[in-house]
Amino acid sequence: MKTLIIDDSPDALAVAKARLAKENLDIVCAAGGQEGLATARRERPDLILLDLDMPDMSGFDVCRALKADAALCMIPVIFLTGSGSTADKVKGLDLGAVDYVTKPFDAVELKARVRAALRTKHLQDLLAKYAQVDPLTELWNRRALEERLRQEWARLQRYGGALALLMADLDHFKAVNDTYGHPAGDQVLRDTAAILVSQCRESDLPARYGGEEFVVVLPTHCAQDAAALAERCRRKIETARVQASGAEIHVTASFGVADSIGLSTPEDLIRAADEALYLAKSDGRNCVRPASAPVPAAS
Ligand SMILES: [Mg+2]
Repeated sequence: MKTLIIDDSPDALAVAKARLAKENLDIVCAAGGQEGLATARRERPDLILLDLDMPDMSGFDVCRALKADAALCMIPVIFLTGSGSTADKVKGLDLGAVDYVTKPFDAVELKARVRAALRTKHLQDLLAKYAQVDPLTELWNRRALEERLRQEWARLQRYGGALALLMADLDHFKAVNDTYGHPAGDQVLRDTAAILVSQCRESDLPARYGGEEFVVVLPTHCAQDAAALAERCRRKIETARVQASGAEIHVTASFGVADSIGLSTPEDLIRAADEALYLAKSDGRNCVRPASAPVPAAS
C-alpha cells in the first residue's frame, strides 16, 4: 500500500523511510506542507505520516486541508510530533488524525502503528466498495449509479457534450421466479448483467437499478448510440439460454433510451428513459424505444 511521508527535515524523512523499509510499502516523500498536499492529490496514498512542525505550513493546517477535500478526507493521517505535548496530540486527533508517533521514532512502535492504520484503511475501502456494488450481479447499485450520474452531469455542464442513459427491464420476470424458483431468477439476473457488461465500453456505467431493472449511463453518447447498444443487448438476451435449476430459461427485455439534449437535470434523464421504457412495454415488450423529444418551451 502507498504511504506518503510529509516532513520538512531530510534527516527525519530518511529515518522514517529506513524504519519502514521492510514493511513492503510503496513510500513517497514530500519535503513540506504545500508539497505534501500536492503529492497527496497526485498519488492518492493509503496513509499519510505528517510532521507537525514545518515552516511553510503546519501539520495541523495540512491535516485540515486534507480533511476538507472530499477526495482525500478518507486517507488516514498519523502525526509525527517532536513534542510530547498532550495538547498537540489532542488537537491532532480532534482534527481527524487516527494516531500520532513521537520523535525520535521507536522503529517497532512506528511499524505497528502504520500497520494498524493500513488495516483499518483496507477495511474501510472494502466497506466503501460493498456500499456501491450490487452483491448479486456485481454491477453498481442504484445509489452508486445516481452518484456517478450526478458527477457525469456536472462534467456535462462544465465541458458540454452529450450523455445518454439506457434503462432495461426483463419481461415477465415474475413468471421466471414463479416457474423456476428464485435461485433460477437470480441466475437470469446475473446472466443479463453479464450481457450488458459485455456490450459496454470501459467508460460506461452499468448498474442494477431495482429488482429486474437495469440502467447504463453512457457518457459522450447520444440517444441514437444508446439505442444501437440497447438493440445489441436486446438481441443477446433474446437468444441467450440461461441454465438454472435443471432448466433452460429464455427471457426477453424491454429498453428505453434517452439523452441529455434539452434536459436540465439528471433526474429528467432518468425520467425520460423510464417513460421510453414504458412505451417499449406497452408496444409489446422485447423492443427498444427512444424518449420522445422534449417539448420546446413556448416562446
Ligand atoms: Mg519539522
